Amino acid sequence: MSLLDVSELEAGYETGQVLFGVDLSVDENEVVSLLGRNGAGKTTTMHALVGADVPRVFGGSMTFNGEDLRAHRNYQISDLGLSLVPEGRRCFRDLTVKENLRLAANHASDPLPVEEVLDQFPELDDMRDRPSKNMSGGEQQMLAIARSLVTNPKLMLLDEPCEGLAPYIVRRIESIIQEINEKQDVSVLLVEQNVAVAVAVAERHYILDEGEIVEEVSTAQLREDDELRQEYLGV
Ligand code: ATP
Repeated sequence: MSLLDVSELEAGYETGQVLFGVDLSVDENEVVSLLGRNGAGKTTTMHALVGADVPRVFGGSMTFNGEDLRAHRNYQISDLGLSLVPEGRRCFRDLTVKENLRLAANHASDPLPVEEVLDQFPELDDMRDRPSKNMSGGEQQMLAIARSLVTNPKLMLLDEPCEGLAPYIVRRIESIIQEINEKQDVSVLLVEQNVAVAVAVAERHYILDEGEIVEEVSTAQLREDDELRQEYLGV
């Protein structure tokens, strides 16, 4: 049994169905990417897993660490060890770095010490008393990842963490993902538009197209198959 098993997931919104039978899995200590064009349903998949922003789940199963995710409410999901770092970071703008992290710790059932997490993010440690609204996009992304890490997740769902960031910050985010996976045994499901990031950090890749998984490929296949990338990812 995998850490995360999603089978025949059908979900969408009042306005219509978006996912038409998504099958994917993530094993312990694995980094897996979910790729696809704009509107393919990547964010909807992430939100369906954690019950955020209420996409309606019409059918299928989602099992995490042996627990049926459909039987849990959104606020219970992070206690199971599943944590979403949403697209756009969504840090509390008026709270400082440390306050953002403490707030996450206060809401977690088994948090990591905030100081321990800050040790892993020297950039954040240096600006621990700065409100997040006064930080760059890259710094806010690090804070969003650190805030998730404080909750001591087994699996982190990262929704487009490198969107709009300068190349040198993208490299830093890649190394953070590798570090939390290798040193802290956190599995990662990464949604990315940037195929280079997925190739750099993930071992397996799912390609989502019009709400269905159309391919599951290794990093070598993704790197070498120009036709596949062109057809489904436009790159
Ligand atoms: P992107 O990379 O652009 O974020 P995506 O693959 O993550 O794309 P989704 O954000 O999951 O795609 O969107 C899939 C479809 O669901 C789109 O047609 C989108 O318009 C629709 N959708 C997304 N969020 C909502 C919502 N809150 N209410 C209604 N429809 C939505």
